[in-house]
Amino acid sequence: MADSSKYIFVTGGVTSSLGKGIISASLAKLLQASGYSVTIQKLDPYINVDPGTLNPYEHGECFVTNDGAETDLDLGHYERFLGVPTSQANNVTTGRIYQSVINKERRGDYLGKTVQVIPHITDEIKEHIQILGKRNEYDFVITEIGGTVGDIESLPFVEAIRQLKWELGARALVLHLTLVPYLSASGELKTKPTQHSVKTLLEYGVQPDILVCRTEHHLGAEIKRKIARFCNVSSNAVIESIDASTIYDVPLLMQQEKLDEVVLEKLGMTRIETPNLDVWRSFLKRLKNPTIEIKVALVGKYVELKDSYKSIAEGIIHAGAQNECKVSVKWIHSESIDASNVDEQLADVQGVLVAPGFGTRGISGKIAAVKYARENKVPFLGICLGMQCAVIEFARNVLDLRGAHSSELEEECPDPVIHLMNSQKEIEEFGGTMRLGAFPCNLSEDSTAFRTYQQEQIFERHRHRYEFNNEYLAQFEANGMLATGINPDGGLVEIVEVEDHPWFVGVQFHPEYKSTVVEPHPLFTSFVRASTECGVVAK
Ligand code: GLN
Repeated sequence: MADSSKYIFVTGGVTSSLGKGIISASLAKLLQASGYSVTIQKLDPYINVDPGTLNPYEHGECFVTNDGAETDLDLGHYERFLGVPTSQANNVTTGRIYQSVINKERRGDYLGKTVQVIPHITDEIKEHIQILGKRNEYDFVITEIGGTVGDIESLPFVEAIRQLKWELGARALVLHLTLVPYLSASGELKTKPTQHSVKTLLEYGVQPDILVCRTEHHLGAEIKRKIARFCNVSSNAVIESIDASTIYDVPLLMQQEKLDEVVLEKLGMTRIETPNLDVWRSFLKRLKNPTIEIKVALVGKYVELKDSYKSIAEGIIHAGAQNECKVSVKWIHSESIDASNVDEQLADVQGVLVAPGFGTRGISGKIAAVKYARENKVPFLGICLGMQCAVIEFARNVLDLRGAHSSELEEECPDPVIHLMNSQKEIEEFGGTMRLGAFPCNLSEDSTAFRTYQQEQIFERHRHRYEFNNEYLAQFEANGMLATGINPDGGLVEIVEVEDHPWFVGVQFHPEYKSTVVEPHPLFTSFVRASTECGVVAK
């Protein structure tokens, strides 16, 4: 069957960080609410094949899909807004494109030809954009181009869009996101940066169809008309995107601005259904009208850049709304916490979350935070490395295995309670070689995990090389740390719990990747609820 999907390309101008991901996700949400199936793809102009090898300080969190792709954090927004899983096809980098072209060249696919940016690289980009449309699953494919128009590295992507727009004709449109800055000295909104940014796009042969303008103040009809006139777009296609108190307001703001209507009109389509955003609205109502307030600590080593823990922070927000509870996060740098100050640092929190991570930096702080939560019976959620720290802490302080550690952190330690998975022993390359993606996990009855999920088998996403060392399992269980979630195929311990504790759960997987607005993750919801029962502050 021929590809009949409509393609919407989202570019950005003036500055980075205008929120192309949120605009793309909001538009997708509105089209989905109008009865259409939608997917969103991100094109990233960097040379890394995927962001899996990037330090989180560079680009924030690495998001993991069900099929085990390590991707840009914007895919997390797409899933949280749409509630539809993404996959490797939803994130393409320059590195992946070049790798594929170079592999083809080595295979002899272009034999005799000079391999060039145009047409070979641009063809490869066009092919990757259309992979999703050709599946015939989606009415709309929204493709967001990372970076800012005018950047050298995003040029081949912009050129591919120019060609595709020409080839697809009425099936494609370009939405350009810009900034309309407010100059407080003169009290004016300025349209010139938007005009220049559209000119840059025009130089590359791309005429945007819709302009979404980020602004701190309402644009007003006059400014919209002015932008329309200078940029060759209809004035109903100049959409204001005013700063919002939460990203989850943006779909409703875009609906007020009729972004979805303009898109459908330009693509010659009508709504299948009257958009129903009741569930979304009731989420926002709970989010904005909490009845109680708690504070939870998030202990991690990348806390200076909150995007490093994007999905965790959003998972906490979803769970807070579900419990009608405002959850403030106390971000604690794991290198700033130790046995001497942990009581003081954690005295005002009702829950402790120890974050994922790699390497030794900040480990003793994470272990000190676990010990505090376990001994003081404060609700605890340990994710991936956070779970591994909980196992190490229990081994050292309850089992009295003083030299217990993870072999990632001390290779020759006397008691490697966390050790390298067998499947990892032969692997030498770093990129894309961890245990990645969704795996099944069977839950023991009569556990916090089972009470939380209300299911015997769950599927959660993983991203790690090390695991619980089953040689120590009997010793742990005899002393009160139970393995309550086990991978049915290889017997890997995926969840640990401390018996004599109101809520202490460590998970080897990453629940944060699966929390969405419509379906907050049960583990986060349950963790927040347990924390509300631990010294709640009434609003
Ligand atoms: N560094 C640990 C491992 O590889 C944990 C990884 C993580 O927290 N994502 O097993």
